[in-house]
Amino acid sequence: MTHYKQLYIAGRWVDSASTAEYPVINPATEQPITSVAECNLDDVNLAVAAAKTALPAWATTPGRERARYISAIAERLKQRETELAELISRELGMPAHLALEIQVRGPIAGLESYIQYAHQLDETEQIGNSLIVTEPVGVCALISPWNYPLHQLIGKVGPALAAGCTMVVKPSVEAPLSAYLLAQICADAGLPAGVFNLISGSGHLVGEALCTHHDVDMISFTGSTQTGIKVAQSAANSVKRVCQELGGKSPLIITPEADLEAAVQYGVEDIMINSGQTCTALSRMLVPSSRYEEAVSHARQVAEQIKVGSPQEAASFMGPLVSRQQQQVVQRYIQQGINEGARLIAGGLGKPAGIEAGYYVKPTIFADVHPNMTIAREEIFGPVLCMIPYQDLDDAVRIANDSVFGLSAAVWADSEQQALEVARRLQSGQVFINGGAFNYQAPFGGYKQSGNGREWGLDSLREFTETKAIQLPR
Ligand code: NAD
Repeated sequence: MTHYKQLYIAGRWVDSASTAEYPVINPATEQPITSVAECNLDDVNLAVAAAKTALPAWATTPGRERARYISAIAERLKQRETELAELISRELGMPAHLALEIQVRGPIAGLESYIQYAHQLDETEQIGNSLIVTEPVGVCALISPWNYPLHQLIGKVGPALAAGCTMVVKPSVEAPLSAYLLAQICADAGLPAGVFNLISGSGHLVGEALCTHHDVDMISFTGSTQTGIKVAQSAANSVKRVCQELGGKSPLIITPEADLEAAVQYGVEDIMINSGQTCTALSRMLVPSSRYEEAVSHARQVAEQIKVGSPQEAASFMGPLVSRQQQQVVQRYIQQGINEGARLIAGGLGKPAGIEAGYYVKPTIFADVHPNMTIAREEIFGPVLCMIPYQDLDDAVRIANDSVFGLSAAVWADSEQQALEVARRLQSGQVFINGGAFNYQAPFGGYKQSGNGREWGLDSLREFTETKAIQLPR
């Protein structure tokens, strides 16, 4: 794969109109892996024009044919799954064995759902004298973050392809490399020129230009709430459709009768996976006050057993954070937790013992966290868990919902009925019960400032389609 410095536009790898580049750094070694182009406005215009040109033919290609392309892309992704996992591990720092399962195999299975969904789009519905027709929204800008780079992209590319949209993809600056492999795979799968276009560059220039571009009909954005607000503002001028997957501060409620050891182990491991850089990470653990010290002592033991180390080692559970900047942000939050008077029971400031290079942070747990503390309210996006005591389940639900975010939540209970009752009361796009698994056929998205719209599942197709009612004479 030698195209990192180029862009994929109108079915060809081309040079950027700009000579500027930025390095992609391996966060475990702090050494550059490669560099990619820092695109300029000419590149943006060229990519959008290619997507616009390709739109009429792709939009009218029957769903069953679009499904064949999706299937061909999924097959090629499977053939290159190890390569993809290693690439993501190198640019992101997630251990490769975990990246293979979580970052690669999961989303490929998710992509395969769109084969069937694309077929369904060929069906028309009749309501009385109206023919209801589903059509693609048009040219889409797909802007993704670095923490699950392929997963985020496939969650957008899959429904866009199925719906008949054409697209300009802009991955993050930090972890763009799997997007290049995806572009090459689209080319190898024979996807018509201009349906999938890839450009690279900063959010404030390239991202912003896509959001304000008059020939872009929709923005599908995943990233922080702060950036999401800017994206929506930029898109408002041309009344684009905006679908957003944003930040989170997700609670895990452990009910009073739950298996405490299992629940605590689940919660601690969940926040440490991908070094806490998961939008759904269970960063607040809500524990019954009657069992609080028992939970704290178990959490400390689990944290001590988390193996932090090189992403290349099979024994590693947690690698470095993605960048020096992210490492510094997380260190500042840990300092803030200490300043605010939370009790540090594991980890803390500095790097794990014995690690020299790399943007590592210790698996960190704070106990005695008050819901009003900054560390309990803001998204830290690092391996930092806040343990918060609660009095009864009403109190737990109140604390869980007392957040501007509403992306995800979890309940650990000994009775499914009780867990379901609690789940129904949570203001959250998804609730995981007793370790319930992510389901790529189910809709995924956030309440409140965690976003709008849904990815994955059939719901995601609604984001990428318009509905037309053709009124026939009675
Ligand atoms: P970010 O908001 O900094 O960047 C996301 C993307 O937006 C990048 O490609 C960036 O270049 C681009 N961007 C930046 N400024 C822009 C602008 N003004 N206009 C257009 N595009 C712009 O986020 P990040 O640091 O890459 O990712 C971490 C954040 O993403 C966390 O807040 C996390 O919770 C969130 N996230 C949410 C989900 C979800 O599904 N809800 C999933 C993963 C990550």
